[in-house]
Amino acid sequence: MLLLFAVFLDSIFQHQDMRFLFISFLLFTHVCLSQDTTTQSKIKHFTEKAEKYLDREKALSGYYSIDKNGIKMFASAKDKAVGKAEFLLKWDQIKQFNEFELSDCRTRFDTYKLGKLSHSPDVCVHYVKPDSGNQKLLSKYRIAIDAGHTAGDMAMGEIEKKEVKFKRDTLNGLTDSISFSEGTLTFATAKLVEEKLETDGAQVFMTRAFNGSTAFGVTFDDWLKTSYKSAVDSLCKIGEITAEKKKWFLSSKCTKRDKFRLIFKDIELQKRGEIINNYHPDLTIIIHYNVDETNTGWTKPSNKDFDMTFVGGAFMKNDLSSIDKRFEFLRLLISDDLEKSILLSSEVIKSFEKTLHVKTASVTDATYLVKSCFATQEKGVFCRNLQLTRFVHSPLVYGETIYQDNVEECKALNKETDKTKNERVRKVAEAYFLGVLNYVKNNSTSK
Ligand SMILES: [Zn+2]
Repeated sequence: MLLLFAVFLDSIFQHQDMRFLFISFLLFTHVCLSQDTTTQSKIKHFTEKAEKYLDREKALSGYYSIDKNGIKMFASAKDKAVGKAEFLLKWDQIKQFNEFELSDCRTRFDTYKLGKLSHSPDVCVHYVKPDSGNQKLLSKYRIAIDAGHTAGDMAMGEIEKKEVKFKRDTLNGLTDSISFSEGTLTFATAKLVEEKLETDGAQVFMTRAFNGSTAFGVTFDDWLKTSYKSAVDSLCKIGEITAEKKKWFLSSKCTKRDKFRLIFKDIELQKRGEIINNYHPDLTIIIHYNVDETNTGWTKPSNKDFDMTFVGGAFMKNDLSSIDKRFEFLRLLISDDLEKSILLSSEVIKSFEKTLHVKTASVTDATYLVKSCFATQEKGVFCRNLQLTRFVHSPLVYGETIYQDNVEECKALNKETDKTKNERVRKVAEAYFLGVLNYVKNNSTSK
């Protein structure tokens, strides 16, 4: 066989033209085959990624397709059935679309709404990161910090239902009464993390300016006075609430808690995402303290205590109902924000366990971890489709440290009125900082 092939080659190479044709043929076949292999490996990679991190209930295949033409998004399964794509991204456009993020004049979401990538020159004015000029470890990093919730005092903590309040209860180990709000703890933690990061050269942006502040730069009470009515008007105008509901929202029947829960909460979270994305951070730290979900009513302390972190992904079957959510699904699929978030969160959760001496949660330690999350390959890092894990466009860690209602934790957290002086809060801040530092050291090539 080999001999025959050699004879065949020999006869070909006798002729100049035949030789040229044969080499061209070989090159052509090689290019076609390797293109085919690359496309196949891309299809495999993105299909597996969607199944592993994004499509929690294996119910979203009606909203996207991944094939030899690229990735398509559909507004519904019906649209997919008739081939009417909402957005098409060809395989050779992925890099361009990912780098497009920092466009000054049109966002990637605006482009998504156009249905395909536009090449008009006005679109591609890229954001240029200013050089801070210093040479410290974090000097190239812009870091956004979101201190969860807003309460600066117990009254607001009660409106948010994010407070811990226990009476003195010696039977359950409490020799003093306990009262603090989560928003105060997260803000103090954020301030301490900010200080540490800035000392190491990072530029830091905080979504909340002061204890008790919201992402709108004012307290909830002040927001009610200045912006509540116009927010209700806008929601009615865009059809989110009916005229009748609007009347109710503006009447005395609507309590402060209703106004917080039904109007303010979502639009303020949206605002947090917007101001973080406008800052163009290299990474984002979202700070929360957890509670024991089984401690119903929170009237007495719990014995459980765990740490966990969240990243984006794990969309449930009804989670792609709007165009902005479908865009975020595509962004998480084609960018490496998710992979980097997992690496960052993994460093932070390891640091929590080491610094705080609290166990890292496994998937069976809370029902929401079983029901609405994907456990990633990293211990204590879970994909969860929260408003901020979905909407923030950077690698992120959404930390849920220690259970505030744990009997020992609540006693420790209750100390000091100024929580930046609280030893436990200082430890939590140190744990976030060391985790971020390890991420930067171990992944310096990703920057
Ligand atoms: Zn929280």
